[in-house]
Amino acid sequence: MQYKVNIGLEVHIELNTKNKMFCRCKSSFGDKENTNVCPVCLAQPGALPIPNKEAIALAIKTGIATNCKIDKKVIFDRKNYFYKDLPKGYQITQFFNPICKDGYINIPNKKINIRQIHIEEDAGKVCKNNTIDYNRAGVPLLELVTMPDFESDEEVIQFLKALKEILIFCNVSDCKIQEGSMRVDINLSVRKENMPLGNRVEIKNVGSFKSIKNAINYEIKRHINLLENNNNINVETRKFDENNNKTIFMRNKETIKDYSYFKEPDILNINLSNNFIFNIKNNMPILPEEKRKLYAKNYNLSENDIKAILYSPKINNLFEELNNKINNPKEIANIISGELFKICNENKININNLTFNINYISNIINLFLNNKISRDTYKNVFFEIIINDVEPISFIEKNNLYLLNDTNFIESKIINILKENTKSINDYKNGKEKALKFLIGQCMKYFKGKCDSNIIKDIILKHINY
Ligand code: ADP
Ligand code: MG
Ligand code: ZN
Repeated sequence: MQYKVNIGLEVHIELNTKNKMFCRCKSSFGDKENTNVCPVCLAQPGALPIPNKEAIALAIKTGIATNCKIDKKVIFDRKNYFYKDLPKGYQITQFFNPICKDGYINIPNKKINIRQIHIEEDAGKVCKNNTIDYNRAGVPLLELVTMPDFESDEEVIQFLKALKEILIFCNVSDCKIQEGSMRVDINLSVRKENMPLGNRVEIKNVGSFKSIKNAINYEIKRHINLLENNNNINVETRKFDENNNKTIFMRNKETIKDYSYFKEPDILNINLSNNFIFNIKNNMPILPEEKRKLYAKNYNLSENDIKAILYSPKINNLFEELNNKINNPKEIANIISGELFKICNENKININNLTFNINYISNIINLFLNNKISRDTYKNVFFEIIINDVEPISFIEKNNLYLLNDTNFIESKIINILKENTKSINDYKNGKEKALKFLIGQCMKYFKGKCDSNIIKDIILKHINY
């Protein structure tokens, strides 16, 4: 029997605002426990919440980037439940009137519909020794809820990657799943073709893309197995056990009644001005999806190059700034996708933590493009700029690295070198490719890299083939 899978996601995104959602405490990750707290986020009697304008702006920015309708009326509600990490005994959220509705994100072969995005506050965190850290209590969150449009684990991962890219390029969140700034709940059901949606389970807070994949596939098998044996699917909340690679029962699914939602009486309705929304719209960055198209169309760059220059906002800025100075997208993409990534990999540097002087980089690219230095010098000095912050012009002058431009001189020296290496010439003529490399190497050594290896190669071949 063929089964269809439906998956809907609830994604929690921590906003990277300076302050918490309803007080002016610092909102940050990794500070000493209970240092970013105040009467509001510790729920002392009489303390009143004041909504954070910056967070509301980021929610709208996210809504625009994901093609949502924005509600100009911002209203908050209470979701009531008791747990020790929730000092007020309720969470302020937007239940009746989410700020963003009816959007979508494109993934490679389809459109995933977004039902809503709403603003809420995070709870504190229960620590290993069972104490509670309230630094996180009140940190602004977005909850994004999709329609049950996904039909496979691949589609879910494609969506999460696209969403993450949008949020990072809009500077809304850093989306680090491991640090909890992006948290994913998976809702999943299976059904027979042409039947209505089946009973779903919710898998809470799955901690990595790999676990998301595994949890989905485990759950699909479990559902089909139950159905094939004529069992019902219990509507329940489960969690993913990473060690044993399976989902386990947590609790029966809570219902709306369990939370007795009502409008937050401590916060007045906010009416956003047209101007406030217009300003956000006007300052939207060009999104990665759009840039991908522009780069392919206007610059004729390969998929690999485009992937590299959209790796992160930092790398993308580097590309764009260099291109403003030099106007040679191909060469700039080349040095980034080839050399820069290689240097970072080999030296175990997180490319997003690099610091560099952009003028140094544009200087070295220009010298190369104007045939002032060889490709080898170009690569070597680029390495020096990235790793040791070396200023290229004086470095090249000091080490006398400008290309030799007297071709007669170069050719006469190569002829001399060939005369001293007749064995290698014979080896090459007898089919040993390596011998040619050796000869080029000898010349490079002689010219101390100041002559392009391709030019050397051409001259050598010209003389060998006589
Ligand atoms: P709740 O808030 O109680 O978890 P919602 O109706 O808000 O429930 O839905 C939450 C998520 O579950 C949404 O992403 C939605 O698309 C998804 N979902 C709802 N019903 C199903 C179903 N039968 N199969 C798969 N996903 C579902
Ligand atoms: Mg839910
Ligand atoms: Zn506070």
